[in-house]
Formats: sequence, structure tokens, C-alpha cells
Amino acid sequence: MAIRPILKWGSPVLHTASLPVTNIDADTALLVRDMVDTMYAAPGIGLAAPQIGVSLRVIVVDLSTGTEKGKLLHLINPEFVEKEGEQKHEEGCLSIPGYAGSPTRPARVVVRGLDLEGRERVYTGTELLARAFCHEIDHIDGLLFVDRLSPLKRDLMKRKLKKRARADDWED
Ligand SMILES: [Zn+2]
Repeated sequence: MAIRPILKWGSPVLHTASLPVTNIDADTALLVRDMVDTMYAAPGIGLAAPQIGVSLRVIVVDLSTGTEKGKLLHLINPEFVEKEGEQKHEEGCLSIPGYAGSPTRPARVVVRGLDLEGRERVYTGTELLARAFCHEIDHIDGLLFVDRLSPLKRDLMKRKLKKRARADDWED
């Protein structure tokens, strides 16, 4: 079990698109395990590899934060197959502790990716699961929820985040 430090807004890897995983191997399994441990310890409902400093397209999601069996899922190289409708709810991010925003997200998504055995997995998400998929896939595209806010709210929050990042002073 390895809980890794979660990088905060301003770390370059969080603002860079991650690379696809080309070979699913023992290192990938270790990465997923560390991501799950780190997500549960936080606790959070999702985590993307760049949040622990690994610029690869891997996400983990568990809406139960580990309290219910069978809710954990991981996806390697996830991509959207379908996006439909709209929803808008408050989101936070483990990489932006103490802040929240309400980006517009699709109401329903279908996401496709690979599991650690290299098998294709397809998940349909609505409500919170749809938001979690969008939030985590944004991460591997180098985007955080702040980047999805209206220009006014985005600029206001970014000014505050720059100060936090400069001082390396985040609320936990
Ligand atoms: Zn996040």
C-alpha cells in the first residue's frame, strides 16, 4: 500500500495532457493500486494519474470512497463514446483543496477504456458518475474544473489559486 502525495493546482503535470498507456504491465498495476490507496486515504471519489505526478491516461473512480464493495473502477486510456444533455453541480478537486466550482457537464456519458487485463470496459454514467468521469478525463487532458468555469469566475479563482500555489499553502 502506497499513499502518494497529491499534487496541487500549479504543478505543471496537472496542466499538461497525459500520454496514452502503450503497454499494460506490472507498473500499470502498481500505479492503479497506488492511485486507489491515495484516493481512499484522501478520501475522494476519483483520481487521475497526473494528480500523483504520473503523466499517463489512467483514472480510478469509486463513488462510495471504498465503503461499498464492487464500486471501484479503473480505466486505462479512457475516452468518451457518447455525451448527452447537461447538468451543473458543485465540484471539488483533491488538487484544489478548499475550493469548489460548478462547471457544466453532460447529463449522461458513455466511456470506454481498458482494464488491467487489457479488456475493453464500457461504462454509462449519469448524475454524479457522469460528473466524475468528466472530471477525471479532464485531468488527463490537463484540465481542472476551474478551466471549465465562466471567464469571470475562472479568472477570480485563478488569482486566488496563484497566491496559494506561490505560498504552497493549501487548506486540507
Ligand atoms: Zn480533480
